[in-house]
Amino acid sequence: MKGICVLGATGSIGVSTLDVAARHKDLYKVIALTANNNIDTLYEQCLVHTPEYVVVVDENNAKLFAERIAASPIDGIKVLSGADALETVATLDQVDSVMAAIVGAAGLLPSLAAAKAGKTVLLANKEALVMSGDLFMHAVRDCGAHLLPIDSEHNAIFQCMPAHYVSGQSAKSVRRILLTASGGPFRTMPLDKLKDVTPEQAVAHPNWDMGRKISVDSATMMNKGLELIEACLLFNMKPEQIQVVIHPQSVIHSMVDYVDGTVLAQMGNPDMRIPIAHAMAWPERFDSGAAPLNIFDVKHMDFEAPDLDRFPCLRLAIEAINAGGVMPAVLNAANEIAVDAFLNEQIRFTDIPVVIEKTMQAFEVSEGDTLEKVLSVDSQARDVARQNLLSLAN
Ligand code: NDP
Repeated sequence: MKGICVLGATGSIGVSTLDVAARHKDLYKVIALTANNNIDTLYEQCLVHTPEYVVVVDENNAKLFAERIAASPIDGIKVLSGADALETVATLDQVDSVMAAIVGAAGLLPSLAAAKAGKTVLLANKEALVMSGDLFMHAVRDCGAHLLPIDSEHNAIFQCMPAHYVSGQSAKSVRRILLTASGGPFRTMPLDKLKDVTPEQAVAHPNWDMGRKISVDSATMMNKGLELIEACLLFNMKPEQIQVVIHPQSVIHSMVDYVDGTVLAQMGNPDMRIPIAHAMAWPERFDSGAAPLNIFDVKHMDFEAPDLDRFPCLRLAIEAINAGGVMPAVLNAANEIAVDAFLNEQIRFTDIPVVIEKTMQAFEVSEGDTLEKVLSVDSQARDVARQNLLSLAN
C-alpha cells in the first residue's frame, strides 16, 4: 500500500489522479489533498477519499473549510492553511508518492521539497522544472527521489526510452526526441484574426480537456516551448536533439528516434488518466479507466513542422533554453503574468509574446544555481512583465 499526496487535487490533473486512485484502493491510500480556493470540490473529494490532511492555501477558505468538515460526518481530517503547509504534507513520512499538479510557479517549493525528501515525484507541474532546471534535477538525484513525468508527451518519451531508464540520465542510444504537439485551436486560423481571439476561444482545446492556463499555453504553443525545456532536463538532451512535430490528431504522444534508425512511438486516446496511471503503477501497469484506442477510428495521421511566425512563444522558449541560466525562469514568469492578463481581458492574445519578449530583453543571463536566485529572478521578472503590460495599455 502506497501513500499519495495530491498537490492541486481540485484541478484537472488532480481530479484525474483521484479517479485513478479510486480504482486502486488496494494499492493507494490518499494521505493528503491540497487546493487553493475550490473548497466545494475539495469537500466532495474528502467524502470519497477521507485523507489524513487537507491544505487550503487561502486562509479564509481554510477557515470555512474547517467549519464545514467539523459539521460533516467525516472524522479526523487535519485542515492546514498557507503555502508552507504544502511542503509539510508533501514530505510526510506516510507519503510515498507526490502528484505535483499545482499550476505555475506556486508548485515549485512543495515539488522541490518532495524531491529533497526522496519521494516518488509524479511531475505534472512543468513550470516548476522550467524555473529551477538543474537545481531540481540535482535534488532528485542527490536525495534518491524518483521522477516520473506526467505530461503526456514526456510520459510517452519515458515509455519509449531504453529499459530501466532513469529520468535525468543520458541515453547514448537515443539520437533525438520527436515531441508532438496538436497545434491547438488556432493552427489554421488566418494570422490577422489571431489578435481578436477571446479567452473562451483560447481555452477550448480541440483534443484535451485541461485547466485554463495550460489551455492558453497550448493555443500560443508556449506549452510546447515549456515542454521542450522540460524534455531537455528530464532526458538530458540538447535543445537541437528535440524536434517539435505538429500532429493534430493527438494519437501519437511523442516518439524516440534511436541511433540505429528505429523510431518508437507511444499511442493512445487523449486521456490524462493514461500517463497518470502509468506513473502511479510504474514499473508495473494497471487500469487507468481510459477507453482503449480504436485504431480503425484513426483515419489518418498528419505531421508538420511548427510555424514560428504563427507561434512566436515557441521561438521565445527555444531562445530561452539556448540562452540558459535563469532565462527559462524569466520566460516562465513573464508568460504567467501575460496569460493571466489575457484571461482577465487586459491584453490581446497576440500581446502575450510581446510581453514575454520585452521582459526577456530586460534580463542578462546569469546562473540560476541557488533557489534564492531563482525565486528572486522569478519575482523581478514578474515586476518587469507587469510594467510591460502597463506600457501596452498606454
Ligand atoms: P488547473 O488550473 O485545472 O488546477 C490547478 C490546481 O492548482 C488546482 O488544484 C488549484 O487550486 C491549484 N492552485 C492554483 N494556484 C495555487 C496556488 N497559488 N497555491 C496552491 N495551489 C494552487 O490546472 P491543471 O490541472 O490543468 O494543470 C496543473 C499542472 O499540470 C500545470 O502545471 C500544467 O501545466 C500541468 N499539466 C496539465 C495537463 C492537463 O491535461 N491539465 C497536462 C500536462 C501537464 P484551486 O482549484 O483551489 O484553485
